[in-house]
Amino acid sequence: MKLLICSGIVIPMTSSLTQDATKLASVMDIAIDGKKIVSTGNIPDSFIPDRTIDAEGKIIIPGFINAHTHLSMGLFRNYANDLDLFTWLTKKIWPIEEKLNEQDIYTGSLLGTAELIRSGTTAFADMYFFQEASCEAVKKSGIRANIGATFFGDIGETEKRLPEHHALFKTWNNACDGRIHIDAAPHAVYTCSRETLTAARDFSLELNNRVHVHLSETAKENADALEQHHMTPTAYLESLGLLERPVYAAHCVHLNQDDMKILKSHNVSPVHSPSSNLKLGSGFAPVPRFSKLGLHTALGTDGASSNNNLNMIEEMHIASLIHKGISGDPKVVSAFETLRMATLYGAEALGIDSLCGSIEVGKDADMIFIDTNAVHLQPLHDPISAVVYSAQTSDIDTVMCQGKIIMENHSILTLDEDKIIRDAADTAKALLSRK
Ligand SMILES: [Zn+2]
Repeated sequence: MKLLICSGIVIPMTSSLTQDATKLASVMDIAIDGKKIVSTGNIPDSFIPDRTIDAEGKIIIPGFINAHTHLSMGLFRNYANDLDLFTWLTKKIWPIEEKLNEQDIYTGSLLGTAELIRSGTTAFADMYFFQEASCEAVKKSGIRANIGATFFGDIGETEKRLPEHHALFKTWNNACDGRIHIDAAPHAVYTCSRETLTAARDFSLELNNRVHVHLSETAKENADALEQHHMTPTAYLESLGLLERPVYAAHCVHLNQDDMKILKSHNVSPVHSPSSNLKLGSGFAPVPRFSKLGLHTALGTDGASSNNNLNMIEEMHIASLIHKGISGDPKVVSAFETLRMATLYGAEALGIDSLCGSIEVGKDADMIFIDTNAVHLQPLHDPISAVVYSAQTSDIDTVMCQGKIIMENHSILTLDEDKIIRDAADTAKALLSRK
């Protein structure tokens, strides 16, 4: 299929683009052949499209990359609120998670992928249970995912799970035309024994995949690590050799200067999840300090039970505002930097930046259209500011992944949303009554 997209307001977010560039957005055409972007700007006459889409008045940006979530936790949306992380986890979430079965995860994963598509997300990183069911939902949805093989608990539990993790990798890594990758996901230093963390490192080393971990989310996590291991969580992970692997680390709220230097020396991608951190009263990551050090921060919503949605536009808005407010400096975490966190830096964190994260020739066509024909988006002085500070997810009318249109005119083509909503409600009800 050859697709020509005409006259969109394109913000390519390529790595060579800098905030000071005279033109960050231009009206241009994009030619797509199969999965790939083959030409931008002046399209050669030799390109004969099978279909032409008029994108006049629409901002076209790379699809968002949600670098930290727990896809099917949408089943617990608004189930437990206004609690700190440890109370929320131990009193409310872990007890109900005990009741989850594979079918629940499939239902929750479909709910999550539909929500991600509606918010313009074309790739995400997940850490949860029954990962095969999530892979099936991703396959159906048409978007990309790095699905974590979750490591949790002591070595006995890990040894039980390891054969499943290997089978998951064998079946799903690089599946669906390369849309799915399987990573190692040790939950956190406070939920994994030393041997379990080491097993996660070895799994990643053997299969040459990435590591997705929660890191220094709360002050309590740091205090407990200092008491038990006489090290910060970051230093502890480094001491176990885990940071030798390519790592993306969710939260990174409570880091000292040495921790940050460690992250920089291992090129770790911090994943900023401000909504979840704020809601749980955990604080939030020092993103301007990461930027000063040259760390590329990605953005993630965390699960829809602690956020309580998977809305990347809202996440960008909050991320950009809180750092200006706390520092008193409106220049930090600019609209441009925030959009880069939500696109290219997310792709880098997930190791898929050679495929997506920007709109350029040779990359796959993962992009979204934002309709600017709305009172809250006009007049359109600055398209990047419009996306970060003014847009709503309901402005996103088209979503494309690997050159395939998966949402058009606000309609998701790959999933049955009405059925998903009914099934999610039935599943939530059944979970609450299940013994
Ligand atoms: Zn999380």
